[in-house]
Amino acid sequence: MVDIDLLKRLVSIPSEPGNIEAKREAARLIVSAAEEKGLNAEYVEDSAGIPNAIIKHPNGRGRRVVFLVHHDVVPAGDGWDFDPYKPFVKDGKLFGRGSADDKSSIVAALGALASVDDPVVDPVVVSVGAEETGESEEFMRQIRGDIIVVLDSGPYVSVGASGSLRIKIKVHGKQAHSGYPFLGKNAIYCAAKILHFIEHLGHVAERTFVSRYRAPEHYDRVPLRLSATMFRSGIAGNVIPDSAEILVDVRTVPGYDGEFAWEWIRESILSFAESGGMCVSLERETLMRPWISEGEHAKRFADIVADVTGKPQDLYIDLGGTDGVHFADRMPVVQFGPLRSECNIHGKNEFVYIDDVETVERVVETVLREGI
Ligand SMILES: [Zn+2]
Repeated sequence: MVDIDLLKRLVSIPSEPGNIEAKREAARLIVSAAEEKGLNAEYVEDSAGIPNAIIKHPNGRGRRVVFLVHHDVVPAGDGWDFDPYKPFVKDGKLFGRGSADDKSSIVAALGALASVDDPVVDPVVVSVGAEETGESEEFMRQIRGDIIVVLDSGPYVSVGASGSLRIKIKVHGKQAHSGYPFLGKNAIYCAAKILHFIEHLGHVAERTFVSRYRAPEHYDRVPLRLSATMFRSGIAGNVIPDSAEILVDVRTVPGYDGEFAWEWIRESILSFAESGGMCVSLERETLMRPWISEGEHAKRFADIVADVTGKPQDLYIDLGGTDGVHFADRMPVVQFGPLRSECNIHGKNEFVYIDDVETVERVVETVLREGI
């Protein structure tokens, strides 16, 4: 059974970036709630002073299975229909900032550990205090285990995630007084053509460069994606601009990684520019590699979720980046949780379906009882 009272108490703590006291309060609440449930709990601050909570089972043995959660939240911002830090339940949903992302999973994991007396694995729940800002990355890299279950995730079995790459395109023109446009070469007009071409490349990529992994939404299989996300040009209202900058965000997938995407996009844009008599230069910055964690653990976990939900489960990879990337190089990773796209995570009026929290709790319970 989901501990609604604990979830409400956690959600009422505004553990936003910069509010270190609230993050400490959240970590301490997790520790004391775990101890009340008969678990072993430890409050740990990392080298940067970020508070984390580590929960172990007194009777854990065998394979160490880490369940990753986080107790920080993104800022609530304005425009909510209610106070984001006064949680309430309505129509099977619990509302408030962090109700879904990711305090629901903390409650599900603690509930599961408390309800199994004699687990066949050694479960450890690690709740980090600065997931949303990326500051917990170093701490996450120190976590050891035989397998990790990232509970900061959607209600599907995910075994990987897209990578990302940024390409900066500089378009070169010739500056002139705008009264004499014939003397210049307007970089904005060149960039407009290139932007249109980038949109076309995006469609081509989604049709052509498709991985073999299922997508949690919209696509059948996750394809390579690219979008122009920033544009900058112009120095004054009466000057024909001699340069423009376009930023292209690329989401890569296994089989079509950053190297492939860079070569294909660069070649395509250079030859398009050349054919139109335009001058461009390109630079890239790789942010994250796509990753995949296949194997018996993934099938086993999918079977557990299928048993709990009564629905057959496929293996997916996420469209955005996930924390699994910090573990995939040293242990098997699987991701599952209660974060549905309609839950407004990172938006206003965030909520979680209590049934989804219950499902996560039962999945974790089954992992403890049956192993993975
Ligand atoms: Zn999250």
